[in-house]
Amino acid sequence: MIDSLYAQHALLPDGWAQQVKLSWNAAGDLLQVQANYVLSDADQNGNLAQATYVIPGMVNLHSHAFQRAMAGLAENAGQHGSDNFWSWRSQMYRLALHITPQQMQAIAAQLYSECLRHGYTSICEFHYLQRAEDGGLYANKIATAEALLQAATQTGIGISLLPVLYSHADFNDAPLASEQRRFATSVRDVLDILNLLEAYRDGQIEIGVAPHSLRAANLTQIVELLNELPSQRPIHIHIAEQQKEVAACLAATGQRPVAYLLQGLDTAQGIDQRWCLVHATHLSASELQALAQSQAVVGLCPSTEANLGDGWFDLADYVKAGGRFGIGSDSHVSQSPIEELRWLEYGQRLRSQQRHVIHSAHLSHLASVGDSIGIGKSSQSGEFLWQAAARGGAQASARRVGQLAQGYRADFLVLDETHPNLQELAPQAVMNTLIFAGNDNLVKEVVVGGKTVVSAGRHRQEAQIQAAFVRCMRQLRAI
Ligand code: ZN
Repeated sequence: MIDSLYAQHALLPDGWAQQVKLSWNAAGDLLQVQANYVLSDADQNGNLAQATYVIPGMVNLHSHAFQRAMAGLAENAGQHGSDNFWSWRSQMYRLALHITPQQMQAIAAQLYSECLRHGYTSICEFHYLQRAEDGGLYANKIATAEALLQAATQTGIGISLLPVLYSHADFNDAPLASEQRRFATSVRDVLDILNLLEAYRDGQIEIGVAPHSLRAANLTQIVELLNELPSQRPIHIHIAEQQKEVAACLAATGQRPVAYLLQGLDTAQGIDQRWCLVHATHLSASELQALAQSQAVVGLCPSTEANLGDGWFDLADYVKAGGRFGIGSDSHVSQSPIEELRWLEYGQRLRSQQRHVIHSAHLSHLASVGDSIGIGKSSQSGEFLWQAAARGGAQASARRVGQLAQGYRADFLVLDETHPNLQELAPQAVMNTLIFAGNDNLVKEVVVGGKTVVSAGRHRQEAQIQAAFVRCMRQLRAI
């Protein structure tokens, strides 16, 4: 069976095209993307669905789904005296100790449905809550991983599931604290989990790995894990999110985290396009240049990084050096790619007292080196931000998503053409309006793998997903 949609305007890899017919197969892969398509009489008579503005869905490259249950609830200034990332982490640990696999599914389904409604069509799930409440293994070692996959299947979002290697509390192989017992995994545990998850891989699901951080997994373990990993699987790691982490790495290894990782892996397992370095907030100039050259993706989560007071990532210099990036919602204080992209750009503007900072950095890179990230030369900031983040996120997910082209997934958004913001606009201005003007959600329909999961702004299972989430929150709040 082949399905099709005709868009008056569609954002294709090279920019906006007109009169675009998208066709996809039953597996959800795009068979044809045809611009300047002339509608036949049969098409005009209702045989071909039509839309005005169609754009590729966004990839959310960093998620800890269970943290959705505490979004917005760690904002009490009196709680800890001086509140920072580390005190927030203690609250998160307390929540993590109580969540059952069934609750995990309810929370993740709510989160994923929200992400879909706002324009994310794929998510990378950095999954470290893998053991039972008492720290023992579940009889089914992938009980919590399956809960996430079921939530993804129920909601229709594409997922790259990344079981986490988490063995230590800090550098020098410090033993895990009791409150970290549900995260504990050895290399052997992760390989067992990967084996069990292998059968789930399909057009909607990819399986990779995530050494949690250099604090939680040492280099020997990371190499051991990667040596057993099938080729072309995504590899994610938290890196250099906090100054304290950088100082601890320097004290333990004599090097900063990114430099240590770049130099510590041998050439066979070096940092390359399989890797996503999440946050990478605190880099030296030489680390930043080396990372940009590596073809890895930096995973930036501006709403969470701002919420936790992480610091600035020097995105302008990184993009100027040809670096690749994508966005994630991490702790889920936001479920909107618009908010992430707006923060990403505004943070750089406030810091530099300039405008169009990230896009200008890309144009400067294009002028000096050429198009090493494959985005081309759009003249619009909004369009560049969306395309670059979707492309980087797609690479980090190791799935064929993030662009409307033959062979890629049929993952796209139909915008609400009746909204006042989208009246009397040239198509080239649509992404600027979407990202920089107002807070109404302009996503009307969401199609993932060729299936419509959001219509008229509502998820197809909204009522039952919300009811299960509310039941779950009632249980968790009572603890
Ligand atoms: Zn994270």
